[in-house]
Amino acid sequence: MSNRVVQGRMVTPEKLAELVEGESVLEAESIADADRDCPDCGGDVISVGYMPSVTEFVTGYKCQDCDWSDDDRED
Ligand SMILES: [Zn+2]
Repeated sequence: MSNRVVQGRMVTPEKLAELVEGESVLEAESIADADRDCPDCGGDVISVGYMPSVTEFVTGYKCQDCDWSDDDRED
């Protein structure tokens, strides 16, 4: 079980990746604790590795308490 509560809702790794990406993803790994605090509210940040397409692997970050999210893309 790697489901986590985000903003009061239980999410699966796929759903978490979708929240970060803004659209559905092909595949997502287990949710992990990110070693950082949310820059907006100071809340706990969790991370998930996912594949938005067959050629790309991204690590996404999402605050458990507010709307803040980020990913490790260079741009
Ligand atoms: Zn936050």
